[in-house]
Amino acid sequence: MLEVKDLHVSVEGSEILKGLNLTLKQGEVHAIMGPNGAGKSTLSAVISGKEGYEVTSGSITFEGRDVLEMEVEERAQAGLLLGFQYPVEIPGVKNIYLLKAALNAQRAARGEEEIPAPEFMKLVKEKLAAMKMDPSFLQRAVNEGFSGGEKKRNEILQMLVLQPRLAMLDEIDSGLDIDAMRVVADGINSLRDPERGVLIVTHYQRLLEHVEPDVVHVLVDGRIAKTGDKQLAYELESRGYEWVLEESTA
Ligand code: ADP
Ligand code: MG
Repeated sequence: MLEVKDLHVSVEGSEILKGLNLTLKQGEVHAIMGPNGAGKSTLSAVISGKEGYEVTSGSITFEGRDVLEMEVEERAQAGLLLGFQYPVEIPGVKNIYLLKAALNAQRAARGEEEIPAPEFMKLVKEKLAAMKMDPSFLQRAVNEGFSGGEKKRNEILQMLVLQPRLAMLDEIDSGLDIDAMRVVADGINSLRDPERGVLIVTHYQRLLEHVEPDVVHVLVDGRIAKTGDKQLAYELESRGYEWVLEESTA
């Protein structure tokens, strides 16, 4: 579904990703772990098409299409969706309006009609309940004045409504208390689908106790230094990251 080959990316002249390889198959949940500054956010940003990153070599293919040739909107239409580490506030734009506009843009791209209002409300209310969010959140400006945990829930709410083909979550677990963590984890688990890929970027093994990844990658110094199963996450928790780098350069 997603294939990243020998990806080199620079930001403001310095090389951040240094030959990164990653393969994710449909239906799989992958976790990317790694120390601060390793390039985790850079990877998800480049896949989603955020500006300011220079791809100097390598390729990203999504369902057979060359992602680097696609505009940001095309990537979103193809179902690549990134949930942010620091969700943006959009003053003056109601949450419900954003959800509806995003969903309808997706439908329009597929040549479908706008979703009828009653059907939309039913869908949103169901997802809102799943994320244990009060309906009043729909009428508030996007993320404005939301607590850290509420913003993260809102990111997952967007995913539940938009149903991406590949859901990427960058440190969705940072700053969450235990209850919010459970809700977010349940939300991610409900995204699990044989047709969908999920890529979770996380520092902590804590989230992975609730969302079991099929594959765990360790990103160190701009490369995937090690790939394993969920056991690897536990090993990282107890042993840190140093040994992975030593092992991979030995
Ligand atoms: P991670 O998410 O693994 O903590 P990042 O991908 O955010 O790492 O960052 C990797 C490196 O790239 C860091 O050293 C960071 O300072 C640098 N970096 C990321 N974005 C920018 C930017 N916009 N300008 C300058 N340096 C950046
Ligand atoms: Mg990051």
